[in-house]
Amino acid sequence: MNLKVNEIFYSIQGESSYAGLPCAFIRLSGCNLRCSYCDTSYAYDQGEPMSINEIIEQVDLFRCPLVEVTGGEPLLQAGTPSLIEKLLNRGYRVLLETNGSLDISRTDSRCIRIMDIKCPGSCESDKNDLANLRRLSPHDQIKFVITGKKDYEFAKQLIRSDGWPSGWNGTILFSPAYNAMPPATLAEWILQDHLDVRLQVQLHKILWPRVGSGR
Ligand code: SF4
Repeated sequence: MNLKVNEIFYSIQGESSYAGLPCAFIRLSGCNLRCSYCDTSYAYDQGEPMSINEIIEQVDLFRCPLVEVTGGEPLLQAGTPSLIEKLLNRGYRVLLETNGSLDISRTDSRCIRIMDIKCPGSCESDKNDLANLRRLSPHDQIKFVITGKKDYEFAKQLIRSDGWPSGWNGTILFSPAYNAMPPATLAEWILQDHLDVRLQVQLHKILWPRVGSGR
């Protein structure tokens, strides 16, 4: 089975509790959303077909135990669950970055899903599949990209609502939108409200500010 691949590269994981670790990235092509702050629009269409074996051969060259499947939106492609399963069976720890609009339960439960919940500032918050909140494993992570106070209040209210999975103790990430939300201001809001969330900055953009990529 072929997948359309935008790029495969080796870098530092920048957006999750795994931030700072060397990581092999597989960026798949295509996305069903158009977020206002998107920095990977080059992945909407550009890419080449590759077999799962060809992808894994390239990943193996990096000799890195951590692999992230990202996009675009990886779950748009039918072959993505098979790719993830084969990477896991090969002994890799696999992260999946997904935009939260598609059913995450198709992926192997050993995979660590880093799932966005889109806030109003993305202009795509009506696409969230909130049924995914009932499909999370304890090792999964939820990420809110915060562009301002309205997004912060949206995320806070959702976390405190009856719809939030009360028994789920995974990591909740609050990520300030690059060049839009001052991280220190977001830190103050989190502390004022005593939220049990992790503030995370986009580490790869601090390391390499002129280079795009990431969500
Ligand atoms: S930020 Fe992610 S989900 Fe949003 S349009 Fe860009 S690639 Fe798609």
